[in-house]
Amino acid sequence: MNTTAKMVEENGRVRRHVEGVGKQDQGVYEQLERNVKENFLVILQQKDVELLKADEELSRGEHELNETKEKLKKSEEKLVIEKNISDRNSLEVLKNFTKREIELSLELNEGNQKLVEKEEELKENTVKHEKLESENEIDFKLRDEMFNHVANEEEELRQKTVKLLAEKEELKQKYEKCEKLMAESWKQNTVKHEKLVAKKQEELKQKTAKHEQELQKIYQKLTEKEEELKQDTLKHAKLVGVLEERMECPVCLDIPTTGPVYTCSNGHCVCAACYRGPRSNCPSCRVRMFRNTSLLAATILQNIEHSCRNQGCLQKVAKEEKEEHKKACLFRLVTCPAFSCKEKVAFCHLVDHILNQCGSSMAKIKSTIIDVKGPAYCNYILNNCYLEDVLESFNVITLCWEGKYFFLTALKPPGSLWNFYVQMLGSLEECMRYRVSITIEEKVRGLVQTVCSAPFPINMEARVKREAGLVVRSTSMEGMLRQHASGRDFFTIKLDFAVI
Ligand SMILES: [Zn+2]
Ligand SMILES: [Zn+2]
Ligand SMILES: [Zn+2]
Ligand SMILES: [Zn+2]
Repeated sequence: MNTTAKMVEENGRVRRHVEGVGKQDQGVYEQLERNVKENFLVILQQKDVELLKADEELSRGEHELNETKEKLKKSEEKLVIEKNISDRNSLEVLKNFTKREIELSLELNEGNQKLVEKEEELKENTVKHEKLESENEIDFKLRDEMFNHVANEEEELRQKTVKLLAEKEELKQKYEKCEKLMAESWKQNTVKHEKLVAKKQEELKQKTAKHEQELQKIYQKLTEKEEELKQDTLKHAKLVGVLEERMECPVCLDIPTTGPVYTCSNGHCVCAACYRGPRSNCPSCRVRMFRNTSLLAATILQNIEHSCRNQGCLQKVAKEEKEEHKKACLFRLVTCPAFSCKEKVAFCHLVDHILNQCGSSMAKIKSTIIDVKGPAYCNYILNNCYLEDVLESFNVITLCWEGKYFFLTALKPPGSLWNFYVQMLGSLEECMRYRVSITIEEKVRGLVQTVCSAPFPINMEARVKREAGLVVRSTSMEGMLRQHASGRDFFTIKLDFAVI
Protein backbone atom coordinates (compact mmCIF):
# COMPACT_ATOMS: atom_id res chain seq x y z
CA MET A 1 0.00 0.00 0.00
CA ASN A 2 1.42 3.25 -1.11
CA THR A 3 0.62 5.77 1.48
CA THR A 4 2.18 8.99 2.62
CA ALA A 5 1.68 10.60 5.93
CA LYS A 6 2.22 14.23 6.63
CA MET A 7 1.71 16.58 9.49
CA VAL A 8 -1.18 18.98 8.97
CA GLU A 9 -2.20 21.83 11.11
CA GLU A 10 -5.86 21.81 12.04
CA ASN A 11 -7.47 24.24 14.41
CA GLY A 12 -4.06 25.16 15.82
CA ARG A 13 -3.30 21.47 16.58
CA VAL A 14 -0.77 19.41 14.68
CA ARG A 15 -2.06 16.00 13.64
CA ARG A 16 -0.86 13.37 11.17
CA HIS A 17 -2.77 13.20 7.87
CA VAL A 18 -2.53 10.19 5.57
CA GLU A 19 -2.98 10.71 1.89
CA GLY A 20 -3.41 8.35 -1.05
CA VAL A 21 -5.51 5.71 0.67
CA GLY A 22 -9.14 4.72 0.31
CA LYS A 23 -11.73 4.86 3.08
CA GLN A 24 -11.47 1.13 3.70
CA ASP A 25 -7.74 1.27 3.67
CA GLN A 26 -8.01 4.24 5.92
CA GLY A 27 -9.92 2.11 8.47
CA VAL A 28 -7.31 -0.67 8.27
CA TYR A 29 -4.58 1.81 8.55
CA GLU A 30 -6.15 3.41 11.58
CA GLN A 31 -6.48 -0.02 13.14
CA LEU A 32 -2.79 -0.63 12.39
CA GLU A 33 -1.93 2.76 13.76
CA ARG A 34 -3.82 1.98 16.95
CA ASN A 35 -1.96 -1.32 17.26
CA VAL A 36 1.37 0.38 16.66
CA LYS A 37 0.45 3.05 19.22
CA GLU A 38 -0.42 0.40 21.78
CA ASN A 39 2.77 -1.54 21.04
CA PHE A 40 4.73 1.62 21.22
CA LEU A 41 3.16 2.49 24.55
CA VAL A 42 4.05 -0.99 25.85
CA ILE A 43 7.61 -0.54 24.60
CA LEU A 44 7.73 2.87 26.17
CA GLN A 45 6.54 1.42 29.47
CA GLN A 46 9.17 -1.31 29.22
CA LYS A 47 11.79 1.31 28.46
CA ASP A 48 10.58 3.30 31.43
CA VAL A 49 10.98 0.24 33.65
CA GLU A 50 14.44 -0.36 32.21
CA LEU A 51 15.33 3.28 32.69
CA LEU A 52 14.10 3.08 36.27
CA LYS A 53 16.27 0.00 36.77
CA ALA A 54 19.24 1.79 35.23
CA ASP A 55 18.43 4.70 37.45
CA GLU A 56 18.36 2.43 40.49
CA GLU A 57 21.60 0.82 39.44
CA LEU A 58 23.12 4.23 39.04
CA SER A 59 21.94 5.36 42.45
CA ARG A 60 23.27 2.10 43.87
CA GLY A 61 26.55 2.79 42.09
CA GLU A 62 26.46 6.28 43.50
CA HIS A 63 25.76 4.92 46.95
CA GLU A 64 28.68 2.53 46.69
CA LEU A 65 30.82 5.35 45.42
CA ASN A 66 29.76 7.42 48.42
CA GLU A 67 30.73 4.55 50.67
CA THR A 68 34.06 4.28 48.94
CA LYS A 69 34.43 8.04 49.34
CA GLU A 70 33.63 7.69 53.03
CA LYS A 71 36.21 4.93 53.32
CA LEU A 72 38.70 7.08 51.47
CA LYS A 73 37.91 9.97 53.78
CA LYS A 74 38.47 7.78 56.82
CA SER A 75 41.62 6.45 55.25
CA GLU A 76 42.69 10.03 54.62
CA GLU A 77 42.08 10.87 58.30
CA LYS A 78 43.92 7.76 59.33
CA LEU A 79 46.74 8.68 56.99
CA VAL A 80 46.91 12.16 58.50
CA ILE A 81 47.12 10.75 62.02
CA GLU A 82 49.66 8.18 61.00
CA LYS A 83 51.59 10.80 59.12
CA ASN A 84 51.85 12.81 62.30
CA ILE A 85 53.10 10.00 64.47
CA SER A 86 55.29 8.27 61.96
CA ASP A 87 58.98 9.10 62.01
CA ARG A 88 60.84 11.13 59.40
CA ASN A 89 61.67 8.19 57.17
CA SER A 90 58.02 7.55 56.41
CA LEU A 91 57.40 11.18 55.54
CA GLU A 92 58.47 10.73 51.90
CA VAL A 93 56.27 7.67 51.49
CA LEU A 94 53.41 9.54 53.09
CA LYS A 95 53.89 12.43 50.69
CA ASN A 96 53.53 10.02 47.75
CA PHE A 97 50.43 8.58 49.30
CA THR A 98 49.02 12.04 49.74
CA LYS A 99 49.66 12.74 46.05
CA ARG A 100 47.87 9.56 45.15
CA GLU A 101 45.02 10.43 47.42
CA ILE A 102 44.68 13.77 45.71
CA GLU A 103 44.68 12.08 42.29
CA LEU A 104 42.08 9.61 43.45
CA SER A 105 39.96 12.39 44.86
CA LEU A 106 40.17 14.24 41.55
CA GLU A 107 39.16 11.14 39.62
CA LEU A 108 36.30 10.59 42.01
CA ASN A 109 35.19 14.16 41.54
CA GLU A 110 35.23 13.68 37.79
CA GLY A 111 33.16 10.49 38.15
CA ASN A 112 30.71 12.37 40.32
CA GLN A 113 30.48 15.15 37.77
CA LYS A 114 29.71 12.65 35.06
CA LEU A 115 27.09 10.98 37.19
CA VAL A 116 25.43 14.32 37.79
CA GLU A 117 25.43 14.99 34.08
CA LYS A 118 23.90 11.56 33.42
CA GLU A 119 21.21 12.21 35.94
CA GLU A 120 20.46 15.49 34.25
CA GLU A 121 20.14 13.76 30.87
CA LEU A 122 17.92 11.08 32.32
CA LYS A 123 15.70 13.73 33.77
CA GLU A 124 15.47 15.40 30.40
CA ASN A 125 14.58 12.07 28.75
CA THR A 126 11.91 11.36 31.28
CA VAL A 127 10.45 14.77 30.65
CA LYS A 128 10.51 14.06 26.92
CA HIS A 129 8.77 10.71 27.48
CA GLU A 130 6.15 12.32 29.58
CA LYS A 131 5.60 14.95 26.96
CA LEU A 132 5.27 12.31 24.28
CA GLU A 133 2.83 10.34 26.33
CA SER A 134 0.68 13.38 26.93
CA GLU A 135 0.75 14.29 23.30
CA ASN A 136 -0.73 10.85 22.57
CA GLU A 137 0.04 11.39 18.91
CA ILE A 138 3.24 10.20 17.47
CA ASP A 139 4.70 10.53 14.10
CA PHE A 140 6.34 7.38 12.81
CA LYS A 141 9.37 9.30 11.88
CA LEU A 142 9.38 10.84 15.29
CA ARG A 143 8.75 7.42 16.78
CA ASP A 144 11.73 5.96 14.95
CA GLU A 145 13.77 8.90 15.99
CA MET A 146 12.51 8.40 19.46
CA PHE A 147 13.32 4.67 19.35
CA ASN A 148 16.75 5.37 18.05
CA HIS A 149 17.26 8.14 20.49
CA VAL A 150 16.11 6.02 23.40
CA ALA A 151 18.24 3.11 22.20
CA ASN A 152 21.23 5.39 21.83
CA GLU A 153 20.62 6.91 25.17
CA GLU A 154 20.29 3.46 26.64
CA GLU A 155 23.45 2.25 25.01
CA GLU A 156 25.30 5.36 26.08
CA LEU A 157 23.97 5.05 29.58
CA ARG A 158 24.94 1.39 29.71
CA GLN A 159 28.43 2.15 28.49
CA LYS A 160 28.76 4.96 30.95
CA THR A 161 27.54 2.75 33.76
CA VAL A 162 30.06 0.09 32.72
CA LYS A 163 32.75 2.74 32.54
CA LEU A 164 31.77 4.14 35.93
CA LEU A 165 31.75 0.67 37.45
CA ALA A 166 35.17 0.04 35.96
CA GLU A 167 36.36 3.35 37.36
CA LYS A 168 34.89 2.44 40.67
CA GLU A 169 36.65 -0.93 40.59
CA GLU A 170 39.90 0.81 39.67
CA LEU A 171 39.48 3.28 42.49
CA LYS A 172 38.75 0.48 44.90
CA GLN A 173 41.87 -1.37 43.82
CA LYS A 174 43.95 1.77 44.12
CA TYR A 175 42.53 2.39 47.54
CA GLU A 176 43.29 -1.16 48.65
CA LYS A 177 46.79 -0.95 47.22
CA CYS A 178 47.36 2.33 48.97
CA GLU A 179 46.04 0.91 52.21
CA LYS A 180 48.26 -2.14 51.90
CA LEU A 181 51.30 0.01 51.19
CA MET A 182 50.51 2.19 54.16
CA ALA A 183 50.03 -0.78 56.46
CA GLU A 184 53.30 -2.29 55.28
CA SER A 185 55.16 0.95 55.70
CA TRP A 186 53.65 1.44 59.13
CA LYS A 187 54.57 -2.07 60.13
CA GLN A 188 58.12 -1.62 58.88
CA ASN A 189 58.47 1.70 60.64
CA THR A 190 57.05 0.33 63.85
CA VAL A 191 59.41 -2.63 63.80
CA LYS A 192 62.32 -0.33 63.02
CA HIS A 193 61.29 2.06 65.74
CA GLU A 194 60.84 -0.70 68.30
CA LYS A 195 64.26 -2.10 67.46
CA LEU A 196 65.80 1.33 67.82
CA VAL A 197 64.06 1.93 71.14
CA ALA A 198 65.15 -1.46 72.43
CA LYS A 199 68.73 -0.72 71.34
CA LYS A 200 68.71 2.70 73.02
CA GLN A 201 67.21 1.22 76.17
CA GLU A 202 69.90 -1.42 76.28
CA GLU A 203 72.59 1.24 75.79
CA LEU A 204 71.07 3.35 78.52
CA LYS A 205 70.90 0.39 80.86
CA GLN A 206 74.54 -0.40 80.25
CA LYS A 207 75.58 3.21 80.73
CA THR A 208 73.55 3.48 83.93
CA ALA A 209 75.09 0.30 85.26
CA LYS A 210 78.55 1.61 84.39
CA HIS A 211 77.85 4.95 86.04
CA GLU A 212 76.51 3.24 89.11
CA GLN A 213 79.63 1.15 89.34
CA GLU A 214 81.80 4.24 88.98
CA LEU A 215 79.70 6.04 91.54
CA GLN A 216 80.02 3.13 93.91
CA LYS A 217 83.79 3.24 93.52
CA ILE A 218 83.84 6.99 94.12
CA TYR A 219 81.69 6.55 97.22
CA GLN A 220 84.02 3.85 98.44
CA LYS A 221 87.02 6.13 97.93
CA LEU A 222 85.20 9.02 99.55
CA THR A 223 84.33 6.94 102.59
CA GLU A 224 87.93 5.79 102.85
CA LYS A 225 89.16 9.39 102.53
CA GLU A 226 86.66 10.54 105.14
CA GLU A 227 87.84 7.85 107.50
CA GLU A 228 91.47 8.87 106.88
CA LEU A 229 90.56 12.50 107.45
CA LYS A 230 88.77 11.61 110.65
CA GLN A 231 91.79 9.69 111.89
CA ASP A 232 94.08 12.57 110.90
CA THR A 233 91.85 15.10 112.64
CA LEU A 234 91.84 12.95 115.77
CA LYS A 235 95.63 12.62 115.67
CA HIS A 236 95.98 16.34 115.10
CA ALA A 237 93.64 17.19 117.98
CA LYS A 238 95.49 14.79 120.25
CA LEU A 239 98.85 16.29 119.27
CA VAL A 240 97.58 19.84 119.77
CA GLY A 241 96.15 18.81 123.16
CA VAL A 242 99.51 17.39 124.28
CA LEU A 243 101.37 20.46 122.97
CA GLU A 244 98.96 22.83 124.71
CA GLU A 245 99.42 20.93 127.95
CA ARG A 246 103.20 21.25 127.63
CA MET A 247 102.98 24.94 126.76
CA GLU A 248 100.59 25.94 129.54
CA CYS A 249 102.22 28.48 131.80
CA PRO A 250 102.26 27.00 135.35
CA VAL A 251 101.79 30.52 136.81
CA CYS A 252 98.83 32.03 134.87
CA LEU A 253 97.56 28.67 133.55
CA ASP A 254 97.11 30.25 130.11
CA ILE A 255 98.67 29.22 126.85
CA PRO A 256 100.79 32.14 125.64
CA THR A 257 99.92 33.59 122.26
CA THR A 258 103.10 35.60 121.84
CA GLY A 259 106.76 34.81 122.35
CA PRO A 260 109.27 34.59 123.73
CA VAL A 261 108.54 31.51 125.78
CA TYR A 262 111.13 31.07 128.56
CA THR A 263 112.28 27.57 129.53
CA CYS A 264 114.28 26.15 132.37
CA SER A 265 117.08 23.66 131.79
CA ASN A 266 114.51 20.87 132.27
CA GLY A 267 112.34 22.23 129.45
CA HIS A 268 109.45 23.69 131.51
CA CYS A 269 107.80 26.71 129.88
CA VAL A 270 106.90 30.07 131.46
CA CYS A 271 105.07 32.79 129.56
CA ALA A 272 106.74 36.16 128.97
CA ALA A 273 104.28 37.88 131.32
CA CYS A 274 105.06 35.51 134.22
CA TYR A 275 108.84 35.30 133.66
CA ARG A 276 110.57 37.01 136.59
CA GLY A 277 114.08 37.44 135.17
CA PRO A 278 117.23 35.29 134.87
CA ARG A 279 117.66 34.95 138.61
CA SER A 280 114.19 33.57 139.20
CA ASN A 281 113.44 29.88 139.63
CA CYS A 282 111.34 27.63 137.46
CA PRO A 283 107.85 27.50 138.94
CA SER A 284 107.69 23.80 138.11
CA CYS A 285 111.05 22.37 139.21
CA ARG A 286 112.67 25.29 141.04
CA VAL A 287 115.96 25.33 139.02
CA ARG A 288 117.41 28.67 137.96
CA MET A 289 115.64 30.06 134.89
CA PHE A 290 118.43 32.10 133.21
CA ARG A 291 117.50 33.65 129.84
CA ASN A 292 116.74 30.47 127.90
CA THR A 293 113.91 30.79 125.41
CA SER A 294 112.39 28.02 123.32
CA LEU A 295 112.41 28.54 119.57
CA LEU A 296 110.39 25.34 119.20
CA ALA A 297 107.69 26.58 121.61
CA ALA A 298 107.49 29.92 119.74
CA THR A 299 107.10 28.10 116.42
CA ILE A 300 104.40 25.86 117.83
CA LEU A 301 102.56 28.91 119.22
CA GLN A 302 102.56 30.46 115.78
CA ASN A 303 101.04 27.40 114.15
CA ILE A 304 98.52 25.77 116.44
CA GLU A 305 94.88 26.63 116.83
CA HIS A 306 94.15 27.78 120.36
CA SER A 307 91.10 26.51 122.17
CA CYS A 308 88.91 29.12 123.80
CA ARG A 309 89.29 29.11 127.56
CA ASN A 310 85.76 30.24 128.29
CA GLN A 311 83.69 27.55 129.90
CA GLY A 312 81.18 26.07 127.45
CA CYS A 313 82.94 27.41 124.34
CA LEU A 314 84.25 24.67 122.07
CA GLN A 315 85.67 26.96 119.42
CA LYS A 316 89.29 26.74 118.31
CA VAL A 317 90.85 29.87 116.89
CA ALA A 318 94.10 30.78 115.15
CA LYS A 319 96.61 32.78 117.23
CA GLU A 320 95.86 36.05 115.42
CA GLU A 321 92.11 35.67 115.96
CA LYS A 322 92.35 34.79 119.64
CA GLU A 323 92.10 38.36 120.96
CA GLU A 324 89.18 39.16 118.71
CA HIS A 325 87.39 35.98 119.75
CA LYS A 326 87.93 36.79 123.42
CA LYS A 327 85.98 40.02 122.92
CA ALA A 328 83.14 38.40 120.98
CA CYS A 329 83.01 34.93 122.56
CA LEU A 330 79.42 34.08 123.48
CA PHE A 331 80.72 32.40 126.64
CA ARG A 332 82.84 35.33 127.86
CA LEU A 333 81.92 36.34 131.38
CA VAL A 334 80.09 39.64 131.84
CA THR A 335 78.92 41.35 135.01
CA CYS A 336 75.17 41.50 135.55
CA PRO A 337 73.90 45.01 134.63
CA ALA A 338 71.87 45.25 137.87
CA PHE A 339 73.87 47.66 140.05
CA SER A 340 73.40 45.68 143.26
CA CYS A 341 74.09 42.29 141.63
CA LYS A 342 77.80 41.51 141.26
CA GLU A 343 77.29 38.19 139.54
CA LYS A 344 79.45 37.24 136.55
CA VAL A 345 77.49 35.34 133.94
CA ALA A 346 78.34 33.97 130.48
CA PHE A 347 77.25 36.50 127.84
CA CYS A 348 74.82 34.02 126.27
CA HIS A 349 73.23 33.19 129.63
CA LEU A 350 72.70 36.78 130.80
CA VAL A 351 69.07 37.10 129.66
CA ASP A 352 68.29 33.85 131.46
CA HIS A 353 69.96 35.23 134.61
CA ILE A 354 68.02 38.53 134.39
CA LEU A 355 64.74 36.72 133.91
CA ASN A 356 65.16 33.82 136.35
CA GLN A 357 67.96 34.33 138.85
CA CYS A 358 68.92 37.96 139.42
CA GLY A 359 67.86 39.44 142.75
CA SER A 360 67.73 43.03 141.43
CA SER A 361 65.84 42.58 138.20
CA MET A 362 62.40 43.96 137.39
CA ALA A 363 62.13 41.32 134.64
CA LYS A 364 62.39 38.57 137.26
CA ILE A 365 59.77 40.22 139.49
CA LYS A 366 57.35 40.69 136.57
CA SER A 367 58.44 37.42 134.85
CA THR A 368 58.71 39.22 131.53
CA ILE A 369 60.93 41.41 129.47
CA ILE A 370 59.30 44.55 128.05
CA ASP A 371 59.10 44.37 124.27
CA VAL A 372 59.08 47.90 122.83
CA LYS A 373 58.31 49.22 119.36
CA GLY A 374 58.31 53.02 119.86
CA PRO A 375 59.33 55.04 122.92
CA ALA A 376 59.36 53.23 126.27
CA TYR A 377 58.08 54.76 129.55
CA CYS A 378 59.43 53.43 132.83
CA ASN A 379 57.88 54.50 136.13
CA TYR A 380 59.83 54.69 139.39
CA ILE A 381 57.84 54.84 142.64
CA LEU A 382 59.96 56.14 145.50
CA ASN A 383 60.37 55.25 149.11
CA ASN A 384 61.15 58.17 151.34
CA CYS A 385 64.78 57.11 151.79
CA TYR A 386 65.80 58.81 148.52
CA LEU A 387 66.18 61.94 150.63
CA GLU A 388 68.83 60.28 152.75
CA ASP A 389 72.47 60.53 151.84
CA VAL A 390 72.91 56.81 150.99
CA LEU A 391 73.27 54.82 147.79
CA GLU A 392 69.90 53.99 146.42
CA SER A 393 69.70 51.70 143.39
CA PHE A 394 66.55 50.57 141.70
CA ASN A 395 65.92 47.19 140.12
CA VAL A 396 67.33 47.07 136.60
CA ILE A 397 64.66 47.36 133.89
CA THR A 398 65.18 45.13 130.84
CA LEU A 399 63.73 46.08 127.44
CA CYS A 400 63.89 44.37 124.06
CA TRP A 401 64.01 46.59 120.98
CA GLU A 402 64.49 45.16 117.48
CA GLY A 403 65.88 41.92 118.87
CA LYS A 404 68.47 43.60 121.11
CA TYR A 405 68.38 43.72 124.93
CA PHE A 406 68.76 47.03 126.78
CA PHE A 407 69.10 47.55 130.55
CA LEU A 408 68.06 50.78 132.24
CA THR A 409 69.70 51.56 135.55
CA ALA A 410 68.59 54.36 137.92
CA LEU A 411 71.00 55.32 140.73
CA LYS A 412 71.06 57.77 143.52
CA PRO A 413 74.57 57.64 144.91
CA PRO A 414 75.30 59.46 148.18
CA GLY A 415 75.45 63.18 147.45
CA SER A 416 73.28 65.44 145.42
CA LEU A 417 73.27 63.69 142.00
CA TRP A 418 71.03 61.09 140.39
CA ASN A 419 72.11 59.19 137.34
CA PHE A 420 70.37 57.12 134.68
CA TYR A 421 72.15 55.05 132.05
CA VAL A 422 71.36 52.32 129.53
CA GLN A 423 73.53 49.28 128.73
CA MET A 424 73.12 47.03 125.75
CA LEU A 425 73.79 43.30 125.54
CA GLY A 426 76.58 43.62 123.00
CA SER A 427 80.20 44.60 122.44
CA LEU A 428 81.42 48.20 122.31
CA GLU A 429 81.49 48.07 118.48
CA GLU A 430 77.84 46.95 118.37
CA CYS A 431 76.78 49.63 120.86
CA MET A 432 78.33 52.34 118.71
CA ARG A 433 75.74 51.64 116.00
CA TYR A 434 72.82 52.45 118.34
CA ARG A 435 71.50 55.62 119.95
CA VAL A 436 69.33 55.90 123.01
CA SER A 437 67.74 59.08 124.40
CA ILE A 438 67.01 59.20 128.13
CA THR A 439 64.45 61.86 129.05
CA ILE A 440 62.91 62.90 132.36
CA GLU A 441 60.05 65.34 132.02
CA GLU A 442 57.43 67.14 134.10
CA LYS A 443 54.90 68.58 131.69
CA VAL A 444 52.85 70.72 134.12
CA ARG A 445 55.88 72.73 135.14
CA GLY A 446 57.48 72.38 131.67
CA LEU A 447 60.70 70.78 132.99
CA VAL A 448 62.77 68.52 130.75
CA GLN A 449 66.19 66.93 131.10
CA THR A 450 67.48 64.70 128.35
CA VAL A 451 70.63 63.10 126.99
CA CYS A 452 71.27 61.13 123.83
CA SER A 453 74.24 58.79 123.38
CA ALA A 454 75.27 55.30 122.35
CA PRO A 455 74.24 52.71 124.95
CA PHE A 456 77.05 51.39 127.16
CA PRO A 457 78.33 47.89 126.43
CA ILE A 458 77.46 45.11 128.83
CA ASN A 459 81.07 44.87 130.07
CA MET A 460 80.97 48.50 131.24
CA GLU A 461 83.63 49.57 133.71
CA ALA A 462 82.30 49.93 137.24
CA ARG A 463 83.78 53.40 137.83
CA VAL A 464 81.91 54.83 134.80
CA LYS A 465 78.56 53.68 136.16
CA ARG A 466 78.23 56.44 138.74
CA GLU A 467 78.75 59.30 136.34
CA ALA A 468 77.38 57.92 133.05
CA GLY A 469 74.22 58.74 131.12
CA LEU A 470 71.74 61.33 132.30
CA VAL A 471 72.91 63.08 135.48
CA VAL A 472 70.30 65.13 137.38
CA ARG A 473 70.77 67.20 140.48
CA SER A 474 68.63 66.23 143.51
CA THR A 475 67.09 69.66 143.56
CA SER A 476 66.05 69.31 139.90
CA MET A 477 64.73 65.80 140.62
CA GLU A 478 62.38 67.17 143.27
CA GLY A 479 60.73 69.31 140.59
CA MET A 480 60.21 66.22 138.41
CA LEU A 481 58.33 64.21 141.03
CA ARG A 482 54.60 63.66 140.88
CA GLN A 483 52.21 62.16 143.38
CA HIS A 484 51.18 58.55 142.88
CA ALA A 485 47.66 57.31 143.83
CA SER A 486 49.28 55.47 146.76
CA GLY A 487 50.50 58.82 148.11
CA ARG A 488 54.11 58.12 147.27
CA ASP A 489 56.18 60.16 144.83
CA PHE A 490 57.04 58.85 141.37
CA PHE A 491 58.76 59.94 138.19
CA THR A 492 58.86 58.61 134.61
CA ILE A 493 61.87 57.96 132.42
CA LYS A 494 61.24 57.94 128.68
CA LEU A 495 63.56 56.01 126.36
CA ASP A 496 63.85 56.40 122.57
CA PHE A 497 65.92 53.92 120.54
CA ALA A 498 67.49 54.37 117.15
CA VAL A 499 70.01 52.71 114.84
CA ILE A 500 72.50 54.87 112.93
ZN1 LIG B 1 101.95 32.97 132.59
ZN1 LIG C 1 111.46 23.59 135.34
ZN1 LIG D 1 85.02 31.31 123.06
ZN1 LIG E 1 72.15 39.92 138.42
